[in-house]
Amino acid sequence: MIAVAIDGPAGAGKSTIAKKASEELGYIYVDTGAIYRSVALACIEKGISIEDKESVEKLLPTLDIRIIFFNGEQHILLNDKDVSEKIREENVSMAASSVSAIPEVRNYLLDLQRDFAKRDNVIMDGRDIGTVVLPNAQVKIFLTASPEVRARRRVLQLEEKGMEADFDKILFDIVQRDYNDSNRKTAPLKPAENAVVVDTTELGLDEVIEKIVGIIKEQTT
Ligand code: C5P
Repeated sequence: MIAVAIDGPAGAGKSTIAKKASEELGYIYVDTGAIYRSVALACIEKGISIEDKESVEKLLPTLDIRIIFFNGEQHILLNDKDVSEKIREENVSMAASSVSAIPEVRNYLLDLQRDFAKRDNVIMDGRDIGTVVLPNAQVKIFLTASPEVRARRRVLQLEEKGMEADFDKILFDIVQRDYNDSNRKTAPLKPAENAVVVDTTELGLDEVIEKIVGIIKEQTT
């Protein structure tokens, strides 16, 4: 099996790029952020404070988180409910960043993530795929861009979906999430030692996809 790890900060374009590259290469695409987001959503829905680590830990075994592929699209099911849209809301983003700092949560979700790479060729995106989840991945890419460009892209993404978007608030949240993700003790966001770092600040989407597909082909043939 071939595994490609794409890590990087919020809004670097990981999911868009990983999705397109996986289509082009015929790999399964796994968005691990969606898994952390589902745990965060479950906490919100159950009224569990993320500060209350014991309750969060107790909640974990009650959650049935499944990723299914429907018409080539990843859908995430939380206890049989499709939460693919709901987990994208901004309050869930921030809660996901907090919940993902809990080592027991990360540990609990490791096997779920690793199982995907046992069954198929995968492109998996997240924060710690190349460093922790799939340290033996054949290809490791660290995708990044300036916070301003990432915030601008997020605004466009939300507007395309007809959702409201406040640039300053999104930029603030991105900077806050970068800080949380990079400074947590367990599996912080950082490039794996042998990762190729791709800065997309000055690049268009097509250029990035071409570059990433090129790197994957080069390193797997
Ligand atoms: O990638 P996305 O923005 O959907 O991830 C939501 C949050 O989940 C991130 O801010 C990060 O804190 C957490 N996450 C993580 N490890 C991963 C994927 C996501 O800690 N592999």
